[in-house]
Amino acid sequence: MSAELHTLAGRLNSSFPDLSPLQRLQLLVANVPGKLVFTTSLGLEDQMLTHLIFGNALPIDVVTLDTGRLFPETYSLWQETEAHYGRRIKAKYPQADALEALVDDQGIDGFYFGADMRKACCHVRKVEPLERALHGAGGWLTGLRRDQSANRESLEFVVHDERRALIKANPLFDWSRADIAAFASANNVPVNALHDRGFLSIGCAPCTRALRPGEPERAGRWWWEDETRKECGLHVDDATAASANARTTTISERT
Ligand code: SF4
Repeated sequence: MSAELHTLAGRLNSSFPDLSPLQRLQLLVANVPGKLVFTTSLGLEDQMLTHLIFGNALPIDVVTLDTGRLFPETYSLWQETEAHYGRRIKAKYPQADALEALVDDQGIDGFYFGADMRKACCHVRKVEPLERALHGAGGWLTGLRRDQSANRESLEFVVHDERRALIKANPLFDWSRADIAAFASANNVPVNALHDRGFLSIGCAPCTRALRPGEPERAGRWWWEDETRKECGLHVDDATAASANARTTTISERT
């Protein structure tokens, strides 16, 4: 199965360039075996994908990770999105026992006092629930884009996520934020009210601030940490997977 997914990832990566985002989603539906799960944080690019999935009745589960620390505006958008499309966004929550142990150990806002404590909170509230959201899935869709941060510059359309034994796809990986904003505006896509207040990348409320003029898109996330290490643990395997896929493509091209 592992070799088959590697081959499939290579084939999908050579198929997408001339396709629209909707056609990319349809390509994934037609080719990736098993359940497809799209994880949304209700950010701008996620809302565009949700619009395409719900608006075209694509057989893709739309799932969000409710950390319990989201902005009130994000919860309002969640409700608004369900009402707008008449579809449910499924939610995954932290395990109660693990969350109680975390707060017992580091306090309610312990994430401000060290990267290890922050990562422990992200693990309990996001990473572990993500693994349950993806359980049994053949494909994982995200709204990641290359120009969101230096960490994401090497993103590809599709990678073979070996550890999870699935295809991970980023249908908007080569789209700009401006193009996505234009799509959202033209198609009446509901978006987070915080975007107009300087919040471009929106995560948990205590860990996200508005951008200052000229700052990059994700500068408001975990702003007290080293710029080069600001990921929550959901997408840390991407660079490795992209490099492994590139190696596989190179080898298969030689043989
Ligand atoms: S972003 Fe902040 S509050 Fe949210 S899970 Fe990570 S450390 Fe915890």
